[in-house]
Amino acid sequence: MHKEAFMVELVSLKDRTVVVTGAGQGIGEGITRLVIELGGNVVAVDRNEETLKKLGSELPAGRLMPAVADVSDPEAAQRVVAQAVERFERVDGLCNNAGITRPAMMDKMTVKDWRDVLDVHLSASFFWSQALGQHLIARAKAGDTKGGSIVNISSDAGRKGAIGQVNYAAAKAGILGVTMTTAREWGKYNIRANSICFGVVETPMTEVIRGDKFRDKILSQIPLGRWSTPDEVVKAVCFLLSDAASYVTGQHLGVNGGYHISL
Ligand code: NAP
Repeated sequence: MHKEAFMVELVSLKDRTVVVTGAGQGIGEGITRLVIELGGNVVAVDRNEETLKKLGSELPAGRLMPAVADVSDPEAAQRVVAQAVERFERVDGLCNNAGITRPAMMDKMTVKDWRDVLDVHLSASFFWSQALGQHLIARAKAGDTKGGSIVNISSDAGRKGAIGQVNYAAAKAGILGVTMTTAREWGKYNIRANSICFGVVETPMTEVIRGDKFRDKILSQIPLGRWSTPDEVVKAVCFLLSDAASYVTGQHLGVNGGYHISL
């Protein structure tokens, strides 16, 4: 095979079906668009029906299955994965991306804000991984060797803490534990699991920290000296979903302009 064609095929997601949570806007929307551009199908999960409808009107209907669901509902995870298998015959990948923030200093944080953030990030990552894993394991036991790939969206906050966001930092650190355990338990089924730790991406979630009050201080800590766009960072997600990462599992990839650098 010609070298160029080989490279294209490596990152191709042709005929793969990927569940993307929080697909309605921001990074999830970018992942959805790129997976489809790389030849895949997307099960686009979001609680926001309006943004999903808009996405649906812009992407090929045969390759997109919008699913309105709250990711923190374990029954929704089971239901959507079953519907996706029915529609596309198989599901090969998952990106646990949906997220919220509920900032407050530790001494003032409410129990509700603590629980809501842990539910949407940490518990949901487990619920959706479990639902997909059960499908992939059954497939593997029936002799299918293709396996699957799970990408969990974490954050630099999960590796170094974040003032005013103990709930978010704890949830994102917990996601690293889910990733490592998934990789250890399911490697034998050729199911890979990796995390991505973003720094500051230009989405509605980061409007406040990109504003005048914090901008210069944060930018001075990013070696590349700039925020990233969603389009720039979603390439790393698709790399981990693709065969180009076939021997990569249990890892935490920083996609952050160098905001957090460690061994
Ligand atoms: P975003 O623009 O706020 O998008 C998040 C999406 O998730 C929204 O469509 C949101 O719907 C949806 N969502 C929230 N809770 C949900 C739930 N319970 N069930 C289903 N969908 C739900 O955020 P983003 O910046 O793209 O962030 C995506 C991921 O990257 C998150 O996990 C975030 O923590 C992580 N991350 C982002 C950055 C960054 O700089 N942006 C940095 C590090 C990590 P609604 O519109 O209804 O809220």
